[in-house]
Amino acid sequence: MRVRILGSAAGGGFPQWNCACRLCRGVREGTIRATPRTQESAAVSADGERWVLLNASPEIRAQIEAFPALHPKAPRHTPIGAIVLTNGDLDHVLGLLSLREGQRLAVYAAACVRVGFTEGNSLARTLARFPGQVAWRDIAAGAEIALADAEGAPLGLSLRAEPAPGRPPPHLKGHVPDDPLESIGLRIAEAATGRSLAYVPGTAAITPGLRALMEGAEAVFLDGTCWSDDELIAQGLGTATATSMGHIPVGGPAGSLAALAGLVAGRRVLIHLNNTNPLLDEASPERREAEGAGWSVAHDGMELVL
Ligand SMILES: [Zn+2]
Repeated sequence: MRVRILGSAAGGGFPQWNCACRLCRGVREGTIRATPRTQESAAVSADGERWVLLNASPEIRAQIEAFPALHPKAPRHTPIGAIVLTNGDLDHVLGLLSLREGQRLAVYAAACVRVGFTEGNSLARTLARFPGQVAWRDIAAGAEIALADAEGAPLGLSLRAEPAPGRPPPHLKGHVPDDPLESIGLRIAEAATGRSLAYVPGTAAITPGLRALMEGAEAVFLDGTCWSDDELIAQGLGTATATSMGHIPVGGPAGSLAALAGLVAGRRVLIHLNNTNPLLDEASPERREAEGAGWSVAHDGMELVL
């Protein structure tokens, strides 16, 4: 199984267009050791030919162009067999609207995420230009789902989802009822070998279910949005804590590194980094601490063979 990180930043990317915090300024001016990052998305493949995208970021077009394996092999073609959504946040779904050029798509999402995207959203009709343009397939918690393309051809991968504590996307707040599947963690397994990865880019807590999802995986990609819970407040950039935005902090006694200290897994990678996160600075003590605990920090273009 091959994994390619297409984008590794949280919503807004790094640097963020309207931010001149220490890190955003530093990466623009080259005064810190850090590289720019697009918004989080990954591509997974069992055979290296057909790929499954995990989330569809606003930067999907540039992300596809930056990875030759996703380039079309015929005048009208795509190696993208299916897209899986972990929640309905704009940084995970806006890219769908950029895939409107008449290609059939298979999109796996929890029913509440599908409804949140398609209902009351006239822009979503651009993906309903002909019958069957998008084959929406509902994700239920705990079920093992064999992934297939829009025509139903198997992709050699299966997925299992677990609810991830969080909050509804800001644009749907008060508009949709709360649903435990608003945000999910994924375990993607290769049918032929059983080798697997866990993909949990957004969660406010490490639940027993999510822990089980990660245990024994060949690779774990975990929410690395904020290092500390009050990161935005301390930098004067907002009033919300990381946890209230659906993201467990990485550091500290209540953080994910501490919660997962005994985890048995292969590669451990923090992904979905907010531009305020000191982990982005390769020379930071936080980066040393995470690496010392066995975690690396995802970057755009990172590739793993599992
Ligand atoms: Zn910033």
